[in-house]
Amino acid sequence: MEQTLEKCEGYLKLRKLADENIEHGWEDYRVNPKFDWVIERAKHYSDKLSVPINDILNSWVDGCDYSFMNYFQDANQPEINADKVRVFETIEDMLQAIGDKEFRCPSCDGVSTNPYSCNSGEEMSEGKICDWKVYGLFGDLGKGVHVYIKNKLKGEDIFMPLSWED
Ligand SMILES: [Zn+2]
Repeated sequence: MEQTLEKCEGYLKLRKLADENIEHGWEDYRVNPKFDWVIERAKHYSDKLSVPINDILNSWVDGCDYSFMNYFQDANQPEINADKVRVFETIEDMLQAIGDKEFRCPSCDGVSTNPYSCNSGEEMSEGKICDWKVYGLFGDLGKGVHVYIKNKLKGEDIFMPLSWED
């Protein structure tokens, strides 16, 4: 069942999303290059993961719960061959690779049992316990890792598991 990319559901949904952004006031000369970027990045994911591009695009469009222009960016859909991306078939596989639930907080350097939100109990300043969030404005400070789960078609940043530290 050969299908051209321009006719596949994920492509059309992405195009619709882009057009809605243009209707809501984004300049087309900004939205359209972003659209092309998303298609290129989706091709890259499709090649690297051996997943149909339609599935990649669908998963991204479904996951885009805020601005198209902000949602699609290197930080959210990083290149798979970057040092900082690890791909797993299932969540189970990932958990197995992580082992003990111990993660390095990028801010206090303490050990958190939560991979997204520091619960190390480290005091950053008097009376201020570290509560760093990987999904906050400054993310993982470049010290975390992006994990991608193939059977969920989802990727996200987490604190670096202690077992993956060099
Ligand atoms: Zn911390």
